[in-house]
Amino acid sequence: MPDSPQLDVIFIDIDDTLFATTDFVSAARRDALQSMIDRGLNANIDDLLAELELVVAEFGSNHDHHYDFLLKRLPAAVTGNVNIDLMVVAGVIAYHNAKWKHLHIGDADRQLLLDIKNSGIRLGVISSGLVRKQIEKILRLEIDKYIDPKLIFITHGVGVAKSNVQLYESAIAATGCDISRIMHVGDHPYHDIDTGNAAGMVTVWVNGGGKHSVNEPRTSPAFKISCFAELRAVLVNNYGLNK
Ligand SMILES: [Mg+2]
Repeated sequence: MPDSPQLDVIFIDIDDTLFATTDFVSAARRDALQSMIDRGLNANIDDLLAELELVVAEFGSNHDHHYDFLLKRLPAAVTGNVNIDLMVVAGVIAYHNAKWKHLHIGDADRQLLLDIKNSGIRLGVISSGLVRKQIEKILRLEIDKYIDPKLIFITHGVGVAKSNVQLYESAIAATGCDISRIMHVGDHPYHDIDTGNAAGMVTVWVNGGGKHSVNEPRTSPAFKISCFAELRAVLVNNYGLNK
């Protein structure tokens, strides 16, 4: 397509961009707590979920002892007759089982990644979180086969957060490509779109149902879509990707 602008690289965010992480986490936490209730924890699941959300808010989503802390906070009438370690491990197992059940992407998303790769555009990842946790998602979603392993940038691996333009600048430098030919696709209005714009990338805002979608970016994305699969139309209409 000689008249279309060209892309060399597309970076994608994972959580709530390629995969509905917010919905998954809710379902997996519910499975974990139900597993504890099934083994004798005498509490209402919605009360437990609400308290667990407080623990996560207070100690962060990557803390290792959410369930231990939750159980410490519950009244003795709830936990008095249970083995705490048994509860915690039952919850952890149920959460991990939920990963196998839910960590998949749809056929349309998979075909899009394949078509992008086959078109000669390199795919990378810019994602926030712990390295091994995010890599586990890449592997369980089975998207590693589409991604250039040299173009995976995870905040805890780089030591730079998504709010800092340096993360994006590092990713751009690794491509060796002109900035006008590098796209970033993400859901977070500030950490994907504003920072991606500040770095000079072609930004695509996935304004879907994730927890960040309630806020608007301060700067305009080049394109706005409501789910990852809609990226196909952006690429077909503007960058000459074959339908
Ligand atoms: Mg995200």
